[in-house]
Amino acid sequence: IIACDVVNPDHIDATFESIGGLDGVKKSLHELVILPLQRSDLFAHGKLLGPQKGVLLYGPPGTGKTLLAKAIAKEFGASFINVKISTLMSKWFGDAQKLVTTVFTLAYKLQPTIIFVDEVDSFLGQRRATEHEAVTNMKTEFMAWWDGFTTDQDARVMVLAATNRPWELDEAILRRLPRAFEVGMPNEKERAHILRVILKDENVDPDLDYDKLAALCDNYSGSDLKEICWQAVFFAVLTGSRRPWHWYHVQGSRESFFAAVAGAIGER
Ligand code: ATP
Repeated sequence: IIACDVVNPDHIDATFESIGGLDGVKKSLHELVILPLQRSDLFAHGKLLGPQKGVLLYGPPGTGKTLLAKAIAKEFGASFINVKISTLMSKWFGDAQKLVTTVFTLAYKLQPTIIFVDEVDSFLGQRRATEHEAVTNMKTEFMAWWDGFTTDQDARVMVLAATNRPWELDEAILRRLPRAFEVGMPNEKERAHILRVILKDENVDPDLDYDKLAALCDNYSGSDLKEICWQAVFFAVLTGSRRPWHWYHVQGSRESFFAAVAGAIGER
C-alpha cells in the first residue's frame, strides 16, 4: 500500500523524551491514553472506563502532533499505521474505499495498533454539497470500521487523529474523538527544551546559551526550530567554520540565531 506507512514499534524513532515542551499534553496522554491501554486490568470495571478508541490532537503545523502519536505507539508497543489522506485522496481516489478496509484489517491483525490520521479535516471534515460519491463511500466505510472496534471491548485498536483546523470537523467525527488535546506553539521555556532535544546528539559547544537562543526564536514552532538547527549545523560543517559569518549577513532577522547556533557547533 502506497498511501499509508506501517511501522513496527521497534522501528519507531520517537519517544516522549524526544519531544520538547508539551509537558501538560504528555502527562494527560499518559494518564488518559497509555495507562488504560497498558493496565486494562485497572480499567476493566464496568463499561464506563475502557481504552480510548479515538483521540484528537489539534494545533498549528509543526508543533509535534505526529511525534506525539508515534511516541504513544512506541510507549505502548503498538504498531503505527500512518494514513496519508492527501495522497490517498488525490492519487488513489478510486481505490480509497478498498484502502480503508485494508488499513483496518491490518490494524486488527497487528494489534495493538494506532491508526494515525493526519489532516483529518480534509478527509472527515464537514460534508460538502458537491462531495464526490467515492469520498462519501470512503467516509462511510471508515466510520463503520471505527464503530466496529469502538464497540468491541477487546479490540486494541485506536484512531489518533490530528488537525490544524479542528473547527472544520463535523459533529459525527468529534463524537468519535471524545478526548481532544491542544498541541500549541511552544513558549520560550519550551523552545529552549526543544532546542536541547534537537541538538542532543550534535557536537555543540557546552557553553551554548539555549535560553538566549530560545528568546530569539519568538513564534517558531518545533519544526521551524529543527529546520533552523539543521541549517546551522549543515553550514557549519560545510564551511568547516566555527563562525559562518556569511549567514550572519544574509539571513536578516534570523542572523543572530544562525550565528549563535552555528558558531556554537564545534569542529568535527
Ligand atoms: P503537521 O500539523 O504539519 O502535520 P505536526 O504537528 O504533526 O505537524 P511534527 O510532524 O510532529 O508536527 O513535527 C515536525 C518535526 O518537527 C518533527 O519531526 C520534529 O523533528 C520537530 N518537532 C516538532 N515539535 C517538536 C517538539 N515539541 N520537540 C521536538 N521536536 C519537535
